Amino acid sequence: MRFDTRLVHAGHELAEGTGDVVPPLHLASTYAHGVQDPPAYFYARGENPTREALERALAALEDVRFATVFASGQAAGATALATLAGAGRVIVSDDVYGGTYALLTSSRLDVRPVDLADPAAVADAFADPWAAEALVWVETPTNPMLKVADLAEVCRRAHARGCLVLVDNTLAGPALQQPLRWGADVTLCSTTKSVAGHLDVLGGALVHDRADLHDLFTTHRTTTGSVPSPFDSFLVHRGLKTLSLRTARQVETAGKLASALRESPHVAEVRYPGLPGHPGHEVAARQMSGFGSVVAFRYRADVAGLLRRSRYFADAVSLGGVRSLAQCPATTTHRPIPPDVRLRLGITDDLVRLSVGIEDPEDLLEDLLQALSPS
Ligand SMILES: *Cc1c(COP(=O)(O)O)cnc(C)c1O
Repeated sequence: MRFDTRLVHAGHELAEGTGDVVPPLHLASTYAHGVQDPPAYFYARGENPTREALERALAALEDVRFATVFASGQAAGATALATLAGAGRVIVSDDVYGGTYALLTSSRLDVRPVDLADPAAVADAFADPWAAEALVWVETPTNPMLKVADLAEVCRRAHARGCLVLVDNTLAGPALQQPLRWGADVTLCSTTKSVAGHLDVLGGALVHDRADLHDLFTTHRTTTGSVPSPFDSFLVHRGLKTLSLRTARQVETAGKLASALRESPHVAEVRYPGLPGHPGHEVAARQMSGFGSVVAFRYRADVAGLLRRSRYFADAVSLGGVRSLAQCPATTTHRPIPPDVRLRLGITDDLVRLSVGIEDPEDLLEDLLQALSPS
């Protein structure tokens, strides 16, 4: 079964008895004993068939056996940190999602940010004895600077030091990048973004092929209760089916907008891995099947004015959804990061991040060009 067929079919056989063509929504919080033989369902914090259908689908997309879904991407990340950072040390991409930064700084772990998009920094980081058995938390492309780490190279060096590698694949999503293929141990995905895709549900997932990790993740989730509701699981699974169609349109439009932005006199710099001058362009071309739906740029005039003038880009956080969004990371998503660190990473007040939706590409282009011109 090829990828696009798996999106629609994986995880769900036509239901016996009714022939339901979509996974039924099971709302029961508890299950009667003596009905199932052998008993597989006890209590919905642990087991739920609607949730499990989504898990089978997400695992199938990366061709592995296991996925554990959570109430949000952050809940998935919290479980990963609680279960995988046994050595107490974490190497993390320096330009991580603000929520990940907050999660790491609120932990008692010894955290070392490294520019994992820089091969020399990667070599140095793993040459240090401190790195042995650390958890390696990679984000690529990063958000919002869209730096690209070479997954095969980071995994090779990390594994040589006995490290476990988790890749936050939220920005690319499983249609464009499959980290487990490049050697990662665990893929983390906020399914809130492109996987669900409709900006109407929160969710997260940890995807991998290790039975031992599956036990750790599901036990931690059951214990902490960070499960997604049956309806949320249903919505994520519903959205998933059109992932390839939505992503293809978004990538195509994002490429057009990035090129137009580069030509604009109102724009100082454009960050998009699809642009040939982007420092991660070659690596992205190798390990991704498309360059994504997020474009960042530096605006030469007042960012608030730009956001106000746009008709179609809602001034809102999040990404990967059907509706286009624009935001200023420095004042919103990346606010938890201290100003000096933010500046060093290039997350300045003039930086705008676009999440390109599936609207008509010409409408988006016209709207962006008119919003850029401070009249
Ligand atoms: C949104 C996001 C998360 C967190 O996901 P939630 O579903 O909002 O909890 C984690 N990583 C990245 C890269 C994200 O964009």
